Amino acid sequence: MNASAPVMTLSRHRLAVDGEGVTTLVLLAGCPLHCRYCINDYCHDGRPYPIRTPEELYELTRMDNLYFQATGGGITFGGGEPLLHSEFILAFYELLCRELQGQPWRISVETSLQVPESHIRCLMPFVSEWIVDVKDTDPDIYSRYTLIPQGPLFDRLRLLADAGLQDRVMLRIPRIPEFNTEEDCRRSEERLKALGFTRFDHFDYIIRNV
Ligand code: SF4
Repeated sequence: MNASAPVMTLSRHRLAVDGEGVTTLVLLAGCPLHCRYCINDYCHDGRPYPIRTPEELYELTRMDNLYFQATGGGITFGGGEPLLHSEFILAFYELLCRELQGQPWRISVETSLQVPESHIRCLMPFVSEWIVDVKDTDPDIYSRYTLIPQGPLFDRLRLLADAGLQDRVMLRIPRIPEFNTEEDCRRSEERLKALGFTRFDHFDYIIRNV
């Protein structure tokens, strides 16, 4: 089991931006996508980020335990693509269960779902919030923007839907300048509603010099 992961950044005391309550955002390196307007492009650059064990991450985050417990918050894993490090996240959650006598913090993930199914399955029992960066459901728009095929995205969404996790899933559908339109975003929402999803986050990417 690879229960350690490259941690790019920790950001503390976030409120209602990436999960309920007060959260600490933990960015993990590596991502299979190459979005044209990537905001964290350094996640691809192979820099030697510190490799943390679950125990080390707990030491770095436990000072906010009272905030997490009082607000129902916890840790949000982002990146990069945090689900590439699902074994690390699972081991961290198991450590929380031991250390906090069965009252672990909430765990949220920001993900494209572009990972092997096993990475998703092992986190499904305990992840409280899946913030899924859909981009666009049109395969052509998706591949032009991310530089990878849309591939199994719908299979992965169906995995969450078939498990009845729609209430835990927030789907991000951005308006991406030069790649999609309001109409494309509306069509994406309709396709996703057909899978039973009800929670959507629509917003515009703000790109300089576009
Ligand atoms: S999914 Fe996120 S981290 Fe990965 S390339 Fe796209 S914007 Fe960058």
